[in-house]
Amino acid sequence: MTRADEPQQVDGLLPSDAPYRHLSVSGPADAEGFEQRHRTIADALPDMVWSSLPDGTLEYVNERTVEYLGRTREEVLASTGDDAVHPDDRADFAAAWQECLRTGESFRCEIRLRRRDGIYRWHLARALPGRSPEGQILRFIGTSTDIEDQKRVEEGERFLAKASAVLSSSLETATTLASVAKLAVPFLADWCVVDIVGDDRQTRRLAVAHRDPTKVEMAWEMYRRYPDDPRSTEGVPIVLRTGEPLLVTSVSDDSLAGTARDEEHLQFLRDLGLKSYIIVPLKARGRMLGAMMFVTSDSGRLYDSAHLALTQDLAHRASLAVDNARLYQEAENAIQTRDNFVAVVSHELRNLLGVIVLKTTLLKRTTAIEPGPARDHADAIQRSVERMNRLIHDLLDLASIEAGQFQLDREPQDVAAVIGDAFEQLQPLAVQKHLLFEKKVAPEIASGEVGSVFADRERIVQVFSNLVGNAVKFTPAGGRITLEAAPGKGEIRFTVSDTGPGIPPEQTAHIFDRFWRVKQPHRQGTGLGLSIAKGIIDAHEGRLWVETRVGEGSRFHFTLPLHEVASVSAPPE
Ligand code: ADP
Repeated sequence: MTRADEPQQVDGLLPSDAPYRHLSVSGPADAEGFEQRHRTIADALPDMVWSSLPDGTLEYVNERTVEYLGRTREEVLASTGDDAVHPDDRADFAAAWQECLRTGESFRCEIRLRRRDGIYRWHLARALPGRSPEGQILRFIGTSTDIEDQKRVEEGERFLAKASAVLSSSLETATTLASVAKLAVPFLADWCVVDIVGDDRQTRRLAVAHRDPTKVEMAWEMYRRYPDDPRSTEGVPIVLRTGEPLLVTSVSDDSLAGTARDEEHLQFLRDLGLKSYIIVPLKARGRMLGAMMFVTSDSGRLYDSAHLALTQDLAHRASLAVDNARLYQEAENAIQTRDNFVAVVSHELRNLLGVIVLKTTLLKRTTAIEPGPARDHADAIQRSVERMNRLIHDLLDLASIEAGQFQLDREPQDVAAVIGDAFEQLQPLAVQKHLLFEKKVAPEIASGEVGSVFADRERIVQVFSNLVGNAVKFTPAGGRITLEAAPGKGEIRFTVSDTGPGIPPEQTAHIFDRFWRVKQPHRQGTGLGLSIAKGIIDAHEGRLWVETRVGEGSRFHFTLPLHEVASVSAPPE
């Protein structure tokens, strides 16, 4: 029900017959008061409020609109309204408007609107159609809400997520930082420059990004001709010295002239078209790693504190990535140094051992040592030498696996012959410890129906030797060790199983790591056997894994790819 002294509303919006230079009333007496009340409400709103005819002609704008656009109300009302819309958004805006006229639905569109200072800010424009009792659209009443800050935060978060992905994609500092610089253009800057401080404490430019490659070349040329003076009290040098970021909202020609070293330099600087810039330091764990510079030029954008916060966040993430890459590189170098050392020392030791073996053999032969203490000593020396020799071989193998220089002499190998070889060589070891030693070969392998594997026979026997060596070492006398070979899809699966103590589940993840041993007293070993076995199988493009249960035993499996032989079928006679 409508009270007599209240204006009538059409469609819950506005009266149909309002002279629409006013906020709309029809009806009796208090029309002016009603209009004034609504004007006051509209003027008090932080959003822009407006109304227009269906063709877009503005009828009313509130105080905030006038203030935002920086024109008089008359000027605004005389304009078409869309001249304040960013040229790139006008087509979308017009399309949304047409769609709204067609469907009669409410209007909603994100557009950039030019503020009085010439800067465009994102707005959410919404409008509802006001209809006549017959349903005809008479006008629109709309609002524009400034969503610039919210949009910036959202876009900033999306950008930082992308940058983090780039930063974590590689441990190559130069490549990563160059990719991040590229990512920053044009979203965050028209130019992005990255400088890095080397181990020699010298700063060098790592990356320059701009949409136009000729401009990138120009910037490099300027850097070659006018490199930064490390003692300079501005730009990157001062940021590197103080560790504080620098935000220059607006670059004047005077300041360019003040910075330029000569006329040509000034021309370079002018050609770059600098408008505004931010330099943020890259630092981690108290160490200055470099700096990132973000510059606006052609886009005309001017940086503010929100941009500074975003660039600092980016720099923080980039610094962590650079620091991680450095730590990783240092660790790699340390490992490399250790591996080189192990390799060199192992070679030397092997030569010395060779002499000891030779001399012990000669000693035994020339003095024809009779059984007794002297003979026992000579035998003990020989056994120790053999063990040392094996250890040295393992260390050398490990060094070449780690260095990716593991050499294989691969040839087609008959599967039954390979497992037969291993069985014969290792049987004495098991028998000596009173263990049952058996071999199970699938019938299609025994018959030769299944083809051969492409492998280095000696190395595969070495894998068997390591696995059987462990099985013998850990399985108590009376237990059983079984070697098996069975065909799989495009591969052969070999298995060494034992009835030993098994391996606790929390330790199975580590047993293939080098130097790793289950921590138990009185158990000897170097923790190298399984990692070498894994290195050998990996080099054959196979897999090595274990199935084990404490108290029941262990089953070590490894696969080798079948050797593909082009099958040639003979033509029918
Ligand atoms: P190690 O020279 O110490 O035997 P390995 O790399 O060959 O080094 O083995 C690593 C560890 O895995 C061993 O110390 C042992 O604890 C465990 N392990 C390996 N094979 C077996 C097995 N068949 N039964 C029980 N434990 C095993």
